[in-house]
Amino acid sequence: MNFNNSSDLKRQIERRRTFGIISHPDAGKTTLTEKLLLFGGAITMAGAVKSRKSSKHATSDWMAIEQERGISVTSSVMKFEYKGYEINLLDTPGHKDFSEDTYRVLTAVDSAVMVIDSVKGVEEQTRRLMEVCRMRNTPIITFINKLDREGLSPLEILSDIEENLQIECAPLTWPIGMGKGFKGTYDLYKKELTLFRPGFESLRDQDGIAVIKDLNDPKLDQLIGIQAKDLRDDIALLEGAANPFDLDDYLKGCQTPVFFGSAVNNFGVREMLDSFVEIAPCPGPRKTTTRPVSPEEEEFSGFVFKIQANMDLAHRDRLAFMRVCSGRFYRGMKVKHHRIGKDVVLSNPTIFMAQDRELVEEAWPGDIVGIHNHGTIKIGDTFTDKEPLQYIGIPSFAPEHFRRVRLDSPMKSKQLQKGLIQLSEEGAIQVFKPITDNIFILGAVGVLQFDVAVARLKAEYSVEASYDSTSFSVARWVKCADPKKMAEFERAHQANLAKDSTDSLVYLAANSWDLKYVENHWPDVEFLKTCEHR
Ligand code: GDP
Repeated sequence: MNFNNSSDLKRQIERRRTFGIISHPDAGKTTLTEKLLLFGGAITMAGAVKSRKSSKHATSDWMAIEQERGISVTSSVMKFEYKGYEINLLDTPGHKDFSEDTYRVLTAVDSAVMVIDSVKGVEEQTRRLMEVCRMRNTPIITFINKLDREGLSPLEILSDIEENLQIECAPLTWPIGMGKGFKGTYDLYKKELTLFRPGFESLRDQDGIAVIKDLNDPKLDQLIGIQAKDLRDDIALLEGAANPFDLDDYLKGCQTPVFFGSAVNNFGVREMLDSFVEIAPCPGPRKTTTRPVSPEEEEFSGFVFKIQANMDLAHRDRLAFMRVCSGRFYRGMKVKHHRIGKDVVLSNPTIFMAQDRELVEEAWPGDIVGIHNHGTIKIGDTFTDKEPLQYIGIPSFAPEHFRRVRLDSPMKSKQLQKGLIQLSEEGAIQVFKPITDNIFILGAVGVLQFDVAVARLKAEYSVEASYDSTSFSVARWVKCADPKKMAEFERAHQANLAKDSTDSLVYLAANSWDLKYVENHWPDVEFLKTCEHR
């Protein structure tokens, strides 16, 4: 099939929105996802997304870990259509122990939706995820959830976000009351009142909406009674105090438009989705080691940001998730796998629907395609038609927990090595080899990653392994422009140096004091918290 139509490519790019939802566990991410999918017609029944969490994954040992602990280890991709837009929603694991996976998923999105629990305000995991979004200035829309409960006042929540997340808030809707007194929201720009009816879910556009152009309209009093006065007072206050919405500031990642609602009641979700498709950015240019690549370039390119093993019994292989960045992708396409210098045919690419996956015939910038990985693909790999490109901005984060691997099955050291290399290439765990010692040290951002690694070594490589503790608690990648200085540093600190799976040098410290001390003594050496996947 020949593809020669740049206006088609442009049209496909403009109608794509690729995003992820960030939140602290329990804020309502799953519930919101489900409602978005209902609007998109991708599912027809409430509860469908929940069931994905619980039943489908009981297929392998390591997935059993997820089930046992009732958390979502992996993230997946859901595609749906809404008002002519093709939306890719990249799900992110909520549990903080798998945040590394979430961080990488966020490198593949063009924008994010942040869910905040109105009772709890900004929580720890939201703060961390926001830091990751800030690394790429990802535009963020905020959804304040659970307005049907007694929570913080809307102004308190906005100032909590502004103070704790260092981002300006621009409310686009405003809530009327909360908890038992929650009456609905007022759209500050469209001047429409949407009434809240608990338990009433409407997917139709105009249900429950009253147009109130003038807040002095007595209709407002008829509809919300004495709370009309509160709304008038609030809006008068906002007119002087709140930041007006500014599209450029949103796109630059320095302002977040804010919506209020209740995901479980499907309230406020449509308003947010309508604005989302309108203002959220379509796929834009992305950086490579050599030049920025525009999505409108006709040559295909894409990069792998995630590898997932054994998603379900019917497909036991590993899948690599590739984001298409430019040009058109089609089934059976022959592409260059630059890292290993080979041509590969992507014969069974998969696209992810809400609950299923199907073969994909073609995909466009912003789309996520699953490709089969037989151990030759690692995170950060770039595929193109011809030009040798390497996308950047897919980092490893310095681990915060360390374990020394103990091999319990005799004669299996080769398999152990193979398994560890593969697990590290998938980003499941980081593997370090001390330069003076013949052992493996594993590093993780969250401790549950260790359990997953041991379970997968057993299930997939028949290796029984366990862990001993180590004296390390901090890691930094080290670099120095002066090779002589670097050699000197290496000689002086051999016992603390290790190589990661890409042979990059890492300094392992007992604690942050130790690290500080060494940093002060070696001003020419850089100690880095993140490292690009190569
Ligand atoms: P996640 O961990 O962020 O994915 O959160 P969930 O979507 O699983 O929601 C956590 C809990 O909050 C569940 O019991 C939901 O039913 C509940 N929940 C979600 N949205 C709302 C809401 O708008 N109001 C109330 N009262 N509860 C909600």
